[in-house]
Amino acid sequence: MSTTVTSHPGLLQRSLHEADPEVAAAVDAEIARQRDHLELIASENFTSRAVLEAVGSVLTNKYAEGYPGRRYYGGCVNVDTAESLAIARARQLFSPGNPDAIHANVQPHSGSQANTAVYLACLKPGDTFLGMSLAMGGHLTHGHPLSISGKQYRVVSYGVTRETETIDYDELARVAEAERPKLIVAGASAYPRTLDFPRFRQVADAVGALLMVDMAHIAGLVATGLHPSPVGHAHFITTTTHKTLRGPRGGMVLCVPEWAKEIDKAVFPGLQGGPLEHVIAGKAVSFREALEPEFSAYQKAVVENAKVFAEAMASHGFRIVSGGTDNHLFLVDLGPKKLTGKVAEKALDKAGITVNKNAIPFDPNPPLVTSGLRIGTPAVTTRGMGPAEMRTIAAWIEEVLASPEDEAVLASVKARVKELTKAFPLY
Ligand SMILES: *Cc1c(COP(=O)(O)O)cnc(C)c1O
Repeated sequence: MSTTVTSHPGLLQRSLHEADPEVAAAVDAEIARQRDHLELIASENFTSRAVLEAVGSVLTNKYAEGYPGRRYYGGCVNVDTAESLAIARARQLFSPGNPDAIHANVQPHSGSQANTAVYLACLKPGDTFLGMSLAMGGHLTHGHPLSISGKQYRVVSYGVTRETETIDYDELARVAEAERPKLIVAGASAYPRTLDFPRFRQVADAVGALLMVDMAHIAGLVATGLHPSPVGHAHFITTTTHKTLRGPRGGMVLCVPEWAKEIDKAVFPGLQGGPLEHVIAGKAVSFREALEPEFSAYQKAVVENAKVFAEAMASHGFRIVSGGTDNHLFLVDLGPKKLTGKVAEKALDKAGITVNKNAIPFDPNPPLVTSGLRIGTPAVTTRGMGPAEMRTIAAWIEEVLASPEDEAVLASVKARVKELTKAFPLY
């Protein structure tokens, strides 16, 4: 027998460490980083071992263009099972009691793909849509000039008021009336307050627009009733599955049944080819987890931790945008401390505390500098941390930002971060 024949199974059977020590080392280093840093990025979380197992499974080998029961490839029986479970659970999770009220497409590779699918389904190039200003918390896919959303469509925006730093619904109604958008997009990446979906729908109806709610950040809260649900108000609901929802990295579109066909066509073949069935299996697992009572307790703790954390930061002299938070994140205005987001992010990173700089409403600094930080509690809460830890971390942030250049302070906080994270093991 020739060696070229036997080398194929040889390649198949090697472990990651045997096959590729360089990538293996990067993965190992990342596990260590996730273990001994404090993860406060509001859009991040830690999935369960069960989700990791599904995503790392042999379902990655399968082509399955199409949808369960109507595929363009043979051999789809098992991925059909996994995808059908994901769909059924998504509908049960977000429309309990009446799953038939919503259609679910679990194939979008990411939140951005989910949003683009909605645009493709209901807009033509050049059509106008109305979304939240990116400078005030909206997402790139809500009309940034470099995003397909900003290149293909005419984008108009609404924002927050100077006084309350909450959404200016009167401005929303005024802009809608003047610009007559075909679609209104609600939802944000950096907005700490409850969104008023009935109000959005009222404005949409008044101008004959469709309503899309992008709940990427708050999906876990919506699933557990801690944020009002957009179901019954929005024609389209998009989300990521990896933020508060705590599933694998990916996206999903929910919609009213009337739009089901158009949405499915927009995702495939409109935007994507073969779906990532291993990731879809991970979505199914995470939706099942989200239906368990423990997940509700987790989301409650996320919200409670965010409140306590924001109050502790305020007690240290930081200004909290809009005066607090209703959800899993809050924005810190560093202005009173004479610091920028850029400097603060870097100093905290050196101390083992991971946050992201973020524009605050009416920010005087450019986007790569900013005057703020966005802090979220989903990831630290997944590790089991509670109010006492939130107060401790807030005090450490204050200590670091009082001397962002003092290497001794940064090293001292980093050592304490390591101790704390050891007490809340991950994987
Ligand atoms: C994160 C996010 C997205 C995009 O998700 P990706 O998976 O990164 O493409 C879309 N919309 C909002 C509001 C988000 O916060």
